[in-house]
Amino acid sequence: MNPRHHPTADVLAAYSAGALEAGFGLVVGAHVETCSACRASVLTYEAASGAALKELPSADVAADALTRVMSRLDEAPAPVLARDTRPLLERLPLKPRKWIAPGVWVAAVDTPHAPNNRVYLLSVKPGMPTARHEHSGAEFCTVLQGAYRDELGLFSTGDFAATDTDVNHQPVVQGDEDCICLFATEGRLKPKGLLGRIAFAYADV
Ligand SMILES: [Zn+2]
Repeated sequence: MNPRHHPTADVLAAYSAGALEAGFGLVVGAHVETCSACRASVLTYEAASGAALKELPSADVAADALTRVMSRLDEAPAPVLARDTRPLLERLPLKPRKWIAPGVWVAAVDTPHAPNNRVYLLSVKPGMPTARHEHSGAEFCTVLQGAYRDELGLFSTGDFAATDTDVNHQPVVQGDEDCICLFATEGRLKPKGLLGRIAFAYADV
């Protein structure tokens, strides 16, 4: 199944260059894992950076460089780490789930490398309303399971959404599967209404 909503070219280029804040990079990576079109774009951007490196002026090499390389050939090879092939949902280091309403939980993702972002999973059962909210900064989201619909369209597993300060939306879960999304934000969400404010404050997202 191919996702229908993708990061922009600018976001993919920044992701390929490692220039996104770590939390945002994690969410874009979750989309890229499921999207062959974006994987191809990332490879193209990486190849372009590699070509740019080749055009840098050459630098002098230490006189003993060749000897050092040759001596390392006798060292034991570095261990090869087995690739973790589980779905991303099972690989994420999650803090305990917090139920913020019947059928709705959040779990922060433990991301010590991303101190400037809030990264969390939000899971919503079909038929449960989510809190209408505005954003106080950029937010990236990739759907890891299920689907939701909002003013911007239908978002299913693998789809990516980026919103910023002027979006005020209320997603509604579609289908009969719990909808689980991976979010990264750079600011606190501003939920509308008392229930939304209590829920977000309690869940500390
Ligand atoms: Zn894509």
